[in-house]
Amino acid sequence: MKFGGSSVADAERLRAMAELVKAQIKNRPVLVLSAMGNTTDYILAAANAAINNGFVSIENIEDIHLRTIKDLELDAALQREVKELFYELGSLLTGISLTRELTGRTRDCLVSFGERLSVRIAASYLQSLKLNACALDSWDVGFVSDSNFGQAELRNETWVRIASSLKTLTASGVLPVITGFIAKDENGNITTLGRGGSDLSATVIAAACKAGEVQVWKDVDGILSADPRLVKDARPVEKVSYEEAAELAYFGAQVLHPRAMQPCMKTGIPVLVKNSFNPQAPGTKIEALCEGKTPLIRAITSKKNVTLVDIVSTRMLGQSGFLAQVFSEFSKNGVSVDMVATSEVSVSCTLDAAHDIGWINRDLSRYADVEVRGDKAIVTIIGDVNRSSVILHRAFGVCEKEGICVQMVSQGASKVNISFIVDDIQAPHLVQALHAHFFAAQVKPAAKAGAAKPDAGAKAKNTKA
Ligand code: ASP
Ligand code: MG
Repeated sequence: MKFGGSSVADAERLRAMAELVKAQIKNRPVLVLSAMGNTTDYILAAANAAINNGFVSIENIEDIHLRTIKDLELDAALQREVKELFYELGSLLTGISLTRELTGRTRDCLVSFGERLSVRIAASYLQSLKLNACALDSWDVGFVSDSNFGQAELRNETWVRIASSLKTLTASGVLPVITGFIAKDENGNITTLGRGGSDLSATVIAAACKAGEVQVWKDVDGILSADPRLVKDARPVEKVSYEEAAELAYFGAQVLHPRAMQPCMKTGIPVLVKNSFNPQAPGTKIEALCEGKTPLIRAITSKKNVTLVDIVSTRMLGQSGFLAQVFSEFSKNGVSVDMVATSEVSVSCTLDAAHDIGWINRDLSRYADVEVRGDKAIVTIIGDVNRSSVILHRAFGVCEKEGICVQMVSQGASKVNISFIVDDIQAPHLVQALHAHFFAAQVKPAAKAGAAKPDAGAKAKNTKA
């Protein structure tokens, strides 16, 4: 059972979490927690203040935790432990403010305090409810990563180690409460698995100890058909495959860590995304590609801040090795490409705008004409690609009607996504228009009777939550 930041944000949320855990205690859960509320953001802000202004303050961070400890009436031992962690965090920040130096390694060490605090507080509270809970830092149950601070990858031995340490713990009736998001490298330095990495911690643990299910407890009713900030009537999706969930996570739906699906995909463990604020809602079930009829469209997402690179060369005609040459430049410069489309003489691809692209003109222009265009967005439709002609026909109809020029199209090799590049400023409108078009047909017939033809394959099921 993984609980995200908002599901452990304060005393009230921890009480709700405890209820959910107690209700399932006979299934011998393992808990994985994020930092409480916005702690990770607060720590990063404190680090920036220390380095930029030489200013050290952790009041807001202390406040969240101390208030919770007080509300839950937790014992003196826990209070001492938490004070020590605050002292260490404050000292680290003071060091940064004096040296005006902040490395990736120190940043990871700083943010790790969020998860280290939350598991201690939660475990202490669960103990006060007479549960045999034990707070554990992930490295104590076997998490070892490489030293790629901020974006570390777990090393293979992690799996065996987790399996054996958790076996021992659960056999002795312990309820493990483990820090998500963090690990240690071989030299004992604390690392992080990328923002939102607690999901990955949870799926790795589940896969390693062959759990029956992973529950990801969040503050929304599951994976939604679109970003609710853009689309008011976005609705929870009942079921998605691992592949669809991975595409959704990557292309803009802030639901799950993009790499979190991999461990479950390998082992076939289902993932249930649930709302801790509304546990009755069915949530979204993520599992192996479901056989039989899938709906035409599952969800529509968008990813902003995308740069489009057009590489045109007549030398590409009939040549072998041209693409290899182009992509080796990307690889040399450590840039990962999101979407690709090629013709006989051109390659178009997209990059996250966060990448430095100065090298493109320098390195690629040597053998091709290159044009770089910023301020683009990727709009992605996750759906049944066996019916891609229907999806494309209807989606382009929407684009035409809304006067939106599609600048690149790509149908993902994972066979679940169709993506378009449009201007950044048009993306929100396009998502709304596409959602209205595709999902109007799935809305409860009672309200919109006769308004739209139902899709052949669309289930009118997941409309009630
Ligand atoms: N606390 C970390 C973050 O906010 C990890 C997580 O929540 O999964 O990114
Ligand atoms: Mg979080």
